[in-house]
Amino acid sequence: MSVLVLVEPEDLDDLGAGLSVVSQEVLTFARSLPGDEVDAVLVGAVGQPTEAVLAHCREQGVRTLHVSPDARLERYAARAWARVVDAAAEAGGAAYLIGGGTPHGNEVLAHVAAARSVPMPCNVVAVVQSEPLEVERQVVGGAVLERVALGDGAGLAVASVAGHAVAPQAAPSPGPAHVAEVDVELTDADLAAQVVRIEAREGGDTSALTGANVVVGAGRGVGGPDQFDDVEALAARLGGAVGVSRVVTSLGWRPHHEQVGQTGSRIAPDLYLACGISGAIQHWAGCSSSKTIIAINTDGEAPMVTKARYAVIGDMHEVIPAVLEELS
Ligand SMILES: Cc1cc2nc3c(=O)[nH]c(=O)nc-3n(C[C@H](O)[C@H](O)[C@H](O)COP(=O)(O)OP(=O)(O)OC[C@H]3O[C@@H](n4cnc5c(N)ncnc54)[C@H](O)[C@@H]3O)c2cc1C
Repeated sequence: MSVLVLVEPEDLDDLGAGLSVVSQEVLTFARSLPGDEVDAVLVGAVGQPTEAVLAHCREQGVRTLHVSPDARLERYAARAWARVVDAAAEAGGAAYLIGGGTPHGNEVLAHVAAARSVPMPCNVVAVVQSEPLEVERQVVGGAVLERVALGDGAGLAVASVAGHAVAPQAAPSPGPAHVAEVDVELTDADLAAQVVRIEAREGGDTSALTGANVVVGAGRGVGGPDQFDDVEALAARLGGAVGVSRVVTSLGWRPHHEQVGQTGSRIAPDLYLACGISGAIQHWAGCSSSKTIIAINTDGEAPMVTKARYAVIGDMHEVIPAVLEELS
């Protein structure tokens, strides 16, 4: 019995960067499922996998890395990618198929689940029981945890894993990561919906925020679009990024790519400093994976204050300059 993981590269155009962090997390998560072996399937990266991809697979104990040589798969086509993933599951005798709860991961896995007529829990965060297998998953943007059965022991069980549910950890012993080609006869229908062009939106890059070890968050309590100097100075001093609440982006004070939350980015920094943010559930959904949260708020009863590890009750425009002074 094996677990197949749909893995994604860090950069679709440059496999030299290896696998995405989320994919490494899911490979780690795969070892908590019942199964003797972990296999992986990489689609959309035509050609032989790079040493960086193989190194991540070996480190995560992967037995076989399935790839597809079909050049038509280079551009994202959910149904075609799903056919390759399905064929890899068949070839490896997988009992479980999982992947990251990313846009591609969720869509491709949903196609496989639909083709096999099986349910697919999304955003799983933990295995809570092994016999029969039950997992916990995030719903309502992470505000609620739901416990669901995964698989019936008969057919393939499919699920996506929420980003940052586990930290990537090397397997107890490295895997051989044998490369195997999956050959699938694709039809025109499989390729009917396909990405034809990708254009980066100007200033829309969220990677600085989602990859930061420190995020200084700012909410309506900042007071206005011209009040971010101390927030930016603190983020720069701590080598971090600025993140904001939806009110801040809705008011046009800051761009949307800085928004944290259900309709923004999910972050998991070592330190999240939430300044002038009330901590509504939609914001909490995006920041609750932070290792340490410090709230700075004038209201001692604000949800962010009650949920944070530490809180400073006071005006952020007095507290932040004092912190900067202390750090200088
Ligand atoms: C479908 C949906 C999706 C949503 N998605 C998101 C999302 O992705 N991200 C998100 O953030 N929100 C989201 N929201 C909005 C969310 O419900 C809240 O309205 C929003 O998060 C509140 O932003 P805020 O904390 O900045 O503002 P407020 O709730 O107004 O809080 C401001 C806080 O600042 C404090 N404060 C005021 N002055 C100071 C000062 N000088 N110093 C220190 N503290 C001060 C106040 O005590 C208060 O706690 C969503 C809502 C919906 C309905």
